[in-house]
Amino acid sequence: MKVEDNLREIQQKIETACERSGRNREEIKIIAVTKYVSVERAQEAMDAGITDLGENRDDGLLAKWEVLEDKPTWHFIGSLQSKKVKNIIDKAAYIHSLDRLSLAEEIQKRADHIIDCLVQVNVSGEESKHGLPLEEVKPFIASLKPFSNIRVAGLMTMAPFTEDEDLLRSCFRKLKDLQQDIQALEESYAPCTELSMGMSNDYQIAIEEGATMIRIGTALVGQ
Ligand SMILES: *Cc1c(COP(=O)(O)O)cnc(C)c1O
Repeated sequence: MKVEDNLREIQQKIETACERSGRNREEIKIIAVTKYVSVERAQEAMDAGITDLGENRDDGLLAKWEVLEDKPTWHFIGSLQSKKVKNIIDKAAYIHSLDRLSLAEEIQKRADHIIDCLVQVNVSGEESKHGLPLEEVKPFIASLKPFSNIRVAGLMTMAPFTEDEDLLRSCFRKLKDLQQDIQALEESYAPCTELSMGMSNDYQIAIEEGATMIRIGTALVGQ
């Protein structure tokens, strides 16, 4: 399938989800997750109108960063080892996987400007998932205040791999509630305007529950 055709279908589903939930289409950004595919396929996505790409490994991001001519906005979406921070810090506009103080310290040390970070939350509590448990997120964000190079742009989660719509919905809703709690603090270093949630199999539900960034790999560029 051409990326263009996949994108058209996804756009329609996004619009339907927006209509169902009374949301504005402009609030939602598609991040094309290119971790499984070639540079050519990533270029095809950009030719189809995609502006934001996501990778979950530093070497994957680097390989495409070097070759792609029209510079996309890069999102680092994978778990990030502290020693890899220096490889992506001047390339990724967003880091979606901030989940510990040692990583914040490394970002602070390596960055020469403010980096938009999303705190990764393990809403479902599955052991296999990265991210902070819900109840640890607020204290963690409070502890980020001294880091002048970190802006808490939002929250990110990966929902469980399930077709249970109620479970997915409750997962996304909990992240939205947490976002509102953090926004209520009105901290300038933590505007927390973004909710990065929703992948190929659950992005419509995520949008209905408030996603502002959806990360789509398989359904858009393929595996
Ligand atoms: C791979 C990946 C995605 C995309 O998954 P698809 O199911 O292929 O859409 C989204 N987010 C993260 C963190 C990923 O690692």
